[in-house]
Amino acid sequence: MQTISIAIHGGAGTLVKGMMTPALEKEYKTALQNALDAGYVLLKNGGTSVDAVAKAVCVLEDSHLFNAGKGAVFTAEETHEMDACIMEGNTRNAGAVSLISGIKNPIKLAKDVMEKSEHVFLAGKGAMEFAKTQGYSLKDASYFYDEFRHKQWLEIKDTDSFQLDHASKKDSKFGTVGAVACDSFGNVAAATSTGGMTNKRFGRVGDSPMVGAGNYANNKTCAISCTGSGEFFIRGVVAYDVSCLMEFKGMSLNEASEEVINKRILEINGDGGLVAVDANGNIAMPFNTEGMYRACKNSKGLEEVLIYK
Ligand code: ASP
Repeated sequence: MQTISIAIHGGAGTLVKGMMTPALEKEYKTALQNALDAGYVLLKNGGTSVDAVAKAVCVLEDSHLFNAGKGAVFTAEETHEMDACIMEGNTRNAGAVSLISGIKNPIKLAKDVMEKSEHVFLAGKGAMEFAKTQGYSLKDASYFYDEFRHKQWLEIKDTDSFQLDHASKKDSKFGTVGAVACDSFGNVAAATSTGGMTNKRFGRVGDSPMVGAGNYANNKTCAISCTGSGEFFIRGVVAYDVSCLMEFKGMSLNEASEEVINKRILEINGDGGLVAVDANGNIAMPFNTEGMYRACKNSKGLEEVLIYK
């Protein structure tokens, strides 16, 4: 019988252990649990992996705790520019958006690009025009305002530096979100959504919306959603690298994702992690940072909601 499974993440940039209070830990874990349950219930009722990952990511986007949707970080212009990608492993259809603003759930727009346009990747003004044709209304800036995140930005505004939520020297609080799932038909899917990096400029885009870098799905191998320093994840073509190690070297899901996160990406100093599932419902959630907000559940009774190692 087909194992159904889902794994989600809320970013590899967790609060350093000493700064995490029991109350905050509970808040994070509740948010993760809610997203996990929302995705899993769809799978359990015979829904598709694409719908499950989109739903789980929407729930995470609606939380102020994570760097995506409502919780997106500030750009150098004190705005929010968000990126998202969704891919399904059966047809290898994909949709992605980048540099979008005011959209409550960027992952929904990425899904509409996949399902309702002839294209895979829409960016900036054009993506916003497409959103308009699909009837999206825009949220104003106050919806995306978060005091902590604004303070993070004030500390580095007017400098050349930009900051990943994962910066190990900083108290890293927020993170990109993502979900991967395997449904009862044995189809896998992946979804990833992010606000990128604090104080980013020049139209900077990270790995999250890029097929093969931060997000990938292929029934033959696996579905992957990454979190980490986007520049390194792009150079490492991380998500596709995991898939390639499985397809061409015959590695298991666990072996391939460990190899990429704890070896290959480290060789170029990349920090972060990923969540992955294969078409047999196996799950892997490796990371090379202090922690990664993450959770998983399958139909064999496995259920975990974790932050640190
Ligand atoms: N990978 C994301 C980016 O570089 C950041 C994150 O994972 O939080 O845009």
